[in-house]
Amino acid sequence: MSGENEKMTWKEKVRLNRRAFSIWYREYPALFVSTALYSLLNTVFPYITLYFSAQLLNELAGARRKELLIQKIVILLTAEAVVLLIRAVVFRWKSVLSDWTCIYFYDRKRQFYKLLSMDFCDAESSGAQALLREVQQTSKWRNYGVRRVYTQYQEFLEALFKLLGGIVLSVSLFRLPVRADAGRLVMLNHPLCMLLLGLLLCGVTLFSPWLGTIGKKCVLQCDEELKLGNRFFNFFGSLMSADKRALDVRLYGQERFFTQLNPIQNDFGVDSKIARFSRGRMGIACAASAAVSRIFGGLIYLFVCLKAWGGAFGVGSVTQYIGAITAMSGGLAKLLELVGDAGINAFYLKREFLFLDIPNRMYQGSLTVEKRSDKNYEVEFRNVSFRYPGTEVYALKNISLKFKVGERLALVGQNGSGKTTFIKLLCRLYDPTEGEILLNGIDIRKYDYQEYMSVFSVVFQDFQLLAYSVGQNIAACAVYDQERAESCCKKAGFWERVATMPEGLDTILYKNLTEDGVEISGGEEQKIAIARAMYRESAFLILDEPTAALDPIAEYEIYTRLNQIVEDRTAIYISHRLSSCRFCDEIIVFHEGSMVQQGSHEALLMQEGGKYSELWNAQAQYYVSDAS
Ligand code: ADP
Repeated sequence: MSGENEKMTWKEKVRLNRRAFSIWYREYPALFVSTALYSLLNTVFPYITLYFSAQLLNELAGARRKELLIQKIVILLTAEAVVLLIRAVVFRWKSVLSDWTCIYFYDRKRQFYKLLSMDFCDAESSGAQALLREVQQTSKWRNYGVRRVYTQYQEFLEALFKLLGGIVLSVSLFRLPVRADAGRLVMLNHPLCMLLLGLLLCGVTLFSPWLGTIGKKCVLQCDEELKLGNRFFNFFGSLMSADKRALDVRLYGQERFFTQLNPIQNDFGVDSKIARFSRGRMGIACAASAAVSRIFGGLIYLFVCLKAWGGAFGVGSVTQYIGAITAMSGGLAKLLELVGDAGINAFYLKREFLFLDIPNRMYQGSLTVEKRSDKNYEVEFRNVSFRYPGTEVYALKNISLKFKVGERLALVGQNGSGKTTFIKLLCRLYDPTEGEILLNGIDIRKYDYQEYMSVFSVVFQDFQLLAYSVGQNIAACAVYDQERAESCCKKAGFWERVATMPEGLDTILYKNLTEDGVEISGGEEQKIAIARAMYRESAFLILDEPTAALDPIAEYEIYTRLNQIVEDRTAIYISHRLSSCRFCDEIIVFHEGSMVQQGSHEALLMQEGGKYSELWNAQAQYYVSDAS
């Protein structure tokens, strides 16, 4: 974000703030009601004390009537007790709703759902990811963005109630005249004197927050540097935590980067831009802002005391008027400060909305997929070509192919030949640049996406499991069918391991969420991922390098039970290890995005000079020399 350099009209700022407010209000209406009520009670409470204390002091310093004193004490205590009680109840209600994690959760949830619902090509694009990282960083670190609107709303209400309460309690200060025999103090009754005081009040009230906003804007100008510094701080702060990186850090002494590259020193240190601002413009503006309001406080004291000295009101009212005017001025200043703050927040809101408004360009159909118990679905690639967004080179070129039901199909080829891209198109993570993909003769774009995907189970190469139980991971759901999960585990060859786990299928994986979590090897993770794909009971089972993380024995084990795993599904294997695919009915060889050969293992080997035999011989040589 270009911060201050970016110009924005107030109309635009208001529009962005209103939109953020309505997002919060729509998502969390109860919080807005409870906050309003709490702010009202919170502001009213000190005014009750202020008003009745003044009454008591006046009575004590004046007529000292016993009954009246008792009556006022009773009213004061009752009013305070009632307001305190209601405030405590409302506070509980509000704080349960507005608990920090709750607000944080709503923010994250909104961003998370956006990420999930946007076109995959956008979700994985570096632009959208960078935008989201920036939004999350600013919101976590400086509390700017949509979340800020809630804080501002609370502060706005408190300031408004403070202002109104102050006005009500200080009206009589201006109305009650100094006694005629008070000498030169009589001039305080002159309308010009009131006008002067009013102007002073307005001037200071405007001046102080204006200075404060100048200070805040300086921070906006350092936005880029501070953001970078904060990122490095987070990165280096977690470098030695027990994650996969910690081992490398120890072995290679990578912590040295911290002192050698340390931009934190530059961005937050004594010579940084923000430090220079603090010593200069920003520091002076903030200090002047505080000083101006103090000077004003002194003048109010003087005015009120002089009027009391002149006999306009009793000594007790001095505390009431000073308290009321100070609160009124504080309220007004806060309102103005909030206007400035909302203006600054508008720049961050614009960025957040840029992320939330990323449009979905892929066509979303609504057709349902016919549910077939015989799993007799036919998928066809018809002249499909594909280029990744922003690239000129075709990752897939003119692919035409039909899957026969119940078949075991293998896609082989060197790395980068287009195998995974083929699967991504099949799963409609991208649409073909040219050509079409059909399910039962209908373009897959016309189907409802969830419906369409229910036909497929995929184990991607870089699958991820969660720190939940084995069973929950297999079912991809908190509640799962124990028997079905057990049967999938058995077929994937993972049941013996589950049997040794302390809680069986209910054993939690990893230690992210609990100390009792169990760490598992890459091969075991892969078996769970295979079991997860089987649990879905879909018509197509797609395994992208299913045995990449397995040792030779485990790999052999998986292949010997493949028929059991696949059952009556259509299976598609992707591998660059040709030996893994020999058992398939049909092998398709990819090379530089094109299908160059198709046939059974034996038939393909017979084709001398073909890509398959070239790869096969190269890999066979590798294994031979490796073994010798
Ligand atoms: P394989 O699975 O056979 O190893 P891929 O399908 O992953 O090959 O990649 C095919 C080609 O597409 C490669 O040249 C790769 O660099 C490119 N590619 C893969 N993913 C992306 C992406 N997200 N953006 C741009 N190019 C990509």
